[in-house]
Amino acid sequence: MITLVCPHATVAALCSHITAQLVTFNDLPDLLLHVEVEPNFSRNGYAVANGLQSQPAFYVRSERKIFVNAELFLLAEHTEQVSILAHEIAHAVRHHLGEENSLQTLNELETDRLACLWGFHSEVLASRSRTEGEEYIACLCLWRDEEKFRKAAGCLATRKLAGLA
Ligand SMILES: [Zn+2]
Repeated sequence: MITLVCPHATVAALCSHITAQLVTFNDLPDLLLHVEVEPNFSRNGYAVANGLQSQPAFYVRSERKIFVNAELFLLAEHTEQVSILAHEIAHAVRHHLGEENSLQTLNELETDRLACLWGFHSEVLASRSRTEGEEYIACLCLWRDEEKFRKAAGCLATRKLAGLA
């Protein structure tokens, strides 16, 4: 079971909305995740070091914690907020299970796919359509078909790495 602990009422409510949907997945590990909400990321050391100050949220592996940028996150639409949190929770679960991929594009796609499998496909696809290119979306649309998805995701990640996409 995935349990999220968050002292911020609005974000905690969203977390409950997501974890309620996850209880039906029996293959998920037992994982207690802390979600820290900061006013913005200008003083967050990890964000500053990695140039992530304009991100609405991220997962920090060394702390096994999700950080939320209140300034940006709270302004986002509900579907966007669900997509953001589901994606970061998926990162935490994949990290916990040792399933991460070192190719960044592939890792992001697989993380998005996990969120899709959990039932957040409409939220994730809507959100990614605003920020990602056609190829990424075409690939993510294959989330239901593991084999086709892996093939397309691997291909796109390799092309990105080579500067071709
Ligand atoms: Zn990500």
